Amino acid sequence: MIPAHSAPRQPAGQSRPSEQASEADWHRLLAQGYREVGALLQDLSLSAEELAEPVDPATPFPLRVPRGYVARMRPGDPTDPLLRQVLPLDRENDAVPGYVNDPVGDLDSRQSAGVLHKYPGRALLVTTGACAIHCRYCFRRHFPYGEENAGRKRWRNSLEAVAADDSIREVILSGGDPLSLDNDKLRPLIEGLGKIAHVERLRIHTRLPVVLPERIDPELVALLTAFPGPVCLVIHANHAQELDESVARALGPLREAGVLLLNQAVLLKGVNDSVSAQEDLSARLTALAVAPYYLHQLDPVAGAAHFQVSDHRARTIIDELRRLAPGYMVPRLVQEIPGDQAKRPL
Ligand SMILES: *Cc1c(COP(=O)(O)O)cnc(C)c1O
Ligand code: SF4
Repeated sequence: MIPAHSAPRQPAGQSRPSEQASEADWHRLLAQGYREVGALLQDLSLSAEELAEPVDPATPFPLRVPRGYVARMRPGDPTDPLLRQVLPLDRENDAVPGYVNDPVGDLDSRQSAGVLHKYPGRALLVTTGACAIHCRYCFRRHFPYGEENAGRKRWRNSLEAVAADDSIREVILSGGDPLSLDNDKLRPLIEGLGKIAHVERLRIHTRLPVVLPERIDPELVALLTAFPGPVCLVIHANHAQELDESVARALGPLREAGVLLLNQAVLLKGVNDSVSAQEDLSARLTALAVAPYYLHQLDPVAGAAHFQVSDHRARTIIDELRRLAPGYMVPRLVQEIPGDQAKRPL
């Protein structure tokens, strides 16, 4: 992904601690995130020797993580499940057979630039390459965002592509992270989609409510509320420890506005590959009125092989969770197979 907003918008002299941030400050919080492995480790009181394996400070998919997210990590713990999701490791550079740049066949399903039409009735718009955080396991970490980006020309081509195909009942905003775009940038897109009669539903796939909850400002909530049909927000949390009070505060107004809240997670070795981690995640999500939707088996993207959990282990975890928790708290364990008409249950 390309870092969103590489420079602060306000002069540095006006900066305030993130605890006091108002809604307008999310750009600054985004710009103030960590970008250097050394600074991150130092602030977590970790030395390189304490880590189980070497890091790669010069990775082409650079470290990027908001300070508020780092504040939820346990200082001094090299195995912290949040740290593991963002710390660039040297072994990401190892070529592993079967791990490729476009593991889910995105580039084969493009309808026009940035519009992916893979599944019946649903079109997915790659709205931006920017993200507030760089997740090491990201299946689009090698995606050519420069060319495949629906946002050029104020969305005109994308809106035309959606309007021209009345089989599209739902539009999914994805990325990168669509909420790393300003409300002013999103407004013409969301309003434009609202005017297309056959677009009944709007869905947004975003990790921002979890990693930079300050992004959920009243203007965004109003923009979503104004959409004529149902709006669904699919957040992305992998571990209960990510879901602190700041996330709860951000989700409240969305829930009150009638936005359907779902979560998708990725099954990640060393992060959430245990029954208790999944049970805790589901319990915390449910406490926030977010339904666990998908648990994705890792897509085999180059650089992420060390996160892989075997299919057998994945099934064992989910079977055990099904025994322990009510059905609505058990996510669907799925895998994306290039060319399939839907995500495949495992
Ligand atoms: C995952 C995905 C969707 C949505 O799938 P659902 O099963 O409806 O959640 C749509 N389009 C693309 C390209 C996807 O990858
Ligand atoms: S997993 Fe989502 S939030 Fe993380 S880098 Fe990929 S697109 Fe961005």
